[in-house]
Amino acid sequence: MLAEVHETVGRITTGVVTSAIPALARVDPHRFGLAFAGVDGELEGVGDWDQAFSVQSVSKVFSLALVLAHDGEALWSRVRRQPSVHRFNSLSELDGDCGIPRNPFVNAGALVVTDRLLGITGNAKAAVLDLLHTESGGGPHFDPVVAADEQAHNHRNSAIAHLIADHGNLHHPVEDVLEHYTWHCAIAATCGQLATAALFLARGGIRANGSRLLSAADTTRLNATLLTCGTYDAAGDFAYAVGLPAKSGIGGGILAVIPGRGVLCAWGPALDSHGNSVAGALALSAFTSITGWSIF
Ligand code: GLN
Repeated sequence: MLAEVHETVGRITTGVVTSAIPALARVDPHRFGLAFAGVDGELEGVGDWDQAFSVQSVSKVFSLALVLAHDGEALWSRVRRQPSVHRFNSLSELDGDCGIPRNPFVNAGALVVTDRLLGITGNAKAAVLDLLHTESGGGPHFDPVVAADEQAHNHRNSAIAHLIADHGNLHHPVEDVLEHYTWHCAIAATCGQLATAALFLARGGIRANGSRLLSAADTTRLNATLLTCGTYDAAGDFAYAVGLPAKSGIGGGILAVIPGRGVLCAWGPALDSHGNSVAGALALSAFTSITGWSIF
């Protein structure tokens, strides 16, 4: 099935690699990988599924899971769960919304999540890497070049964080929150590692070692939030075309959860105007069309 999807996607010529982070702008736009990790331990992939790429906003799934695991519902007084209508790094609604971000997957919301994770763990970037590492069985690592490049071009996230802080919704210094956020975005991992690491979302919150990370109810809710917000202002189109809870990142990765069955991770660096991978979205849409494994 994965080979059939690979053939359907072919050689994508639309979309552009992000220019926001110079280290990512140098990635070959024609790379493509797709992996499926099953709840029973099966792992399959095609194309460049074994090549590490920058996970970027896909890391927001893991930081949110860690905060929900510790706090349960408490986070939701600081971040809403509404789909966004502007770009993922927009400031335009934030002031009117009194520094309460729309959802945990736009940059503003993820910064609040990182701030909370910093309060819980004392080291948010290490906590996110550790979760990815433990659940995947090893491999994910920080990419210091990507982290440094983003830190040198971080005006927009810095503005977002300062605005949230001005409204009293950050509990740690802006510089600390930005540093931890940037580093957890700068984790490099392969499609196979990311799909495996996120399996707790397909197993009702159960980790690789059989212990519980999230309650079944929180897992369902996290998946619901991924469906409505995980691909930003394109979430409606994504639900229509793919029908799975998913999280994208500007490195070109998209993680998609098939509750009870497994997790898919697609990677293609060329992005559409919303910041979602063109090849990744096409591959996931082809996969659910072939298998019928959408949540609907
Ligand atoms: N680190 C990137 C940023 O904050 C992540 C954005 C993304 O992947 N959508 O802008």
